[in-house]
Amino acid sequence: MKKVCVITGGSSGIGLSIVKLFIENNYQVFNLDLSPSTAGADCKSEYRQCDVTNTQLVSEIIADIAKQHTIDVLVSNAGIHFSANIENTSEADLDKVFNINVKGAYAAIKAVLPSMKANKNGAILLMASDQALIAKQNSFAYNLSKSALASIAKTTALDYASYNIRANAVCPGTIETPLYHQAIDNYCQKSGADKSAIHLEEEKLQPLQRLGQPEEVAELVLFLASDKAKFITGSLQVIDGGYTAQ
Ligand code: NAD
Repeated sequence: MKKVCVITGGSSGIGLSIVKLFIENNYQVFNLDLSPSTAGADCKSEYRQCDVTNTQLVSEIIADIAKQHTIDVLVSNAGIHFSANIENTSEADLDKVFNINVKGAYAAIKAVLPSMKANKNGAILLMASDQALIAKQNSFAYNLSKSALASIAKTTALDYASYNIRANAVCPGTIETPLYHQAIDNYCQKSGADKSAIHLEEEKLQPLQRLGQPEEVAELVLFLASDKAKFITGSLQVIDGGYTAQ
């Protein structure tokens, strides 16, 4: 029987790579996202239209999936980036980042727990960031949200270890996805900088002299979700080409 994975934000970037890799590895995947993937036939996940800030809808969709399936894995991945220091972050900006990046994860975890508890098994992966470990400039709200996800991974790991439910945070460095391109486009628009020069600079900032690829993050998530990682819980798993080692 196929294992079942529920993912949020599986239509683009890192999430899409996770969806594809899990499907290749014989998982049935349910993708909750604002819109479906444009990856077409490549991507045979079951799409459920969902804004993760609507916690009631997240609960309903996941409860509906759990009526027919045991949920083995949750990948809480949906997230947005926001660049600003604290003075330039309005309360509305802060709420938006927090509602998507943190409350979305809170709602999804709460919704999968009854199924995982009943099965005495489960793996929860939270897509945090290297910014759960270090700060970056002009990243007040994003940094805060990713640190919160690291905390959620730890508290969930402790509270549900007795049910054999593991929770870990994945902490990618700079990964080349639509979110990354959007972030540097925004920066270039504000500063007038040249995009290819900024991209080159970003690569040079990495000890491995390149950005990460979403497929590389997906491989880590697949491992953490599997029984090969059955003693790993409450951890922050860095995948950043050496960036945070500096
Ligand atoms: P992306 O923009 O390519 O994909 C994000 C996905 O989340 C999209 O499919 C989007 O539709 C979905 N999403 C956004 N808001 C949503 C909402 N309210 N409800 C449901 N779905 C929503 O971004 P990505 O780079 O693949 O990022 C995925 C995750 O990885 C994010 O949590 C991001 O913070 C994290 N991350 C990315 C990087 C990076 O460099 N790209 C680094 C560290 C962490």
